[in-house]
Amino acid sequence: MGWNGKSRTTVARLEEHPNLEEILGVLAQLAHIADSDLPHLAETWLNSPSIAEARDRALSPDSPLVLEVLAAFEAVGALFADDLLGEAPYLTVDRDVTVLALKSVRDAIAATYARPVLRRGEYDALMRPWRSVYAQPTVDQPDLGPRAAQVKALLATLPRLSERCHDDAGRALFEALVDQSYVAESDRADAAAASFQAAVLTERRRVWALVRRTGAEGMSRPCATCRVPVEDSRDVQRVLALCLDAACALLVADAMPDASTALLTEAVSALVPLQRRPDPST
Ligand SMILES: [Zn+2]
Repeated sequence: MGWNGKSRTTVARLEEHPNLEEILGVLAQLAHIADSDLPHLAETWLNSPSIAEARDRALSPDSPLVLEVLAAFEAVGALFADDLLGEAPYLTVDRDVTVLALKSVRDAIAATYARPVLRRGEYDALMRPWRSVYAQPTVDQPDLGPRAAQVKALLATLPRLSERCHDDAGRALFEALVDQSYVAESDRADAAAASFQAAVLTERRRVWALVRRTGAEGMSRPCATCRVPVEDSRDVQRVLALCLDAACALLVADAMPDASTALLTEAVSALVPLQRRPDPST
């Protein structure tokens, strides 16, 4: 890849981006940024007139896929929402440190996308804090745990529910899930709270947030036929909570009593064919 710093690169889709591999490496890492990495990311963040100029160039409208960059910034904000609020009892990193660390994270995201329009020195300056912690990518995709295939199968079902206006099977599934959402409701709420604690204890709190965000996005996607956003009814919220609690229970199944996992996943797994894609890792 050239470093002329001027070329106006037209990239229509992420798959066509010349720096795709590095972008995917950074994006996959986001949910796996450890609390212990945050102070280092914060300490190494630098600003100077030249770095600010590089950042401006990376985020200019001419930069490749700059809207995706902004969407990735928003995703970072969502994954670190608790950290930025600074109130939860399980937080171990000072909010101000996290704020600074996320500047390094955003610079890395911007630099990987903008690499074709940055000069070598600009790119290096924006990537330095990130590279000082993640010299090599540590994951090539977010690690959804020992039952990842089931988590993915469940997440892949949610967009189908948003097409229930045009898909009879999707509508029947939605209605069955609404019914199930009333079964053992308070027991499930307790088990869901316990599984979140398991995610905190095993440092998977941000992967947990990623799963919920992905699921909520899938279900709120407009139907491909009528292109109208799904209404946000009480039933939608119930079904979404039921499915997300099940997905998150699968995420931390290795750290939870089997009975709790079963309680949270039974209703959904009876309706959604989670076993159809066997998990090669188990
Ligand atoms: Zn429709």
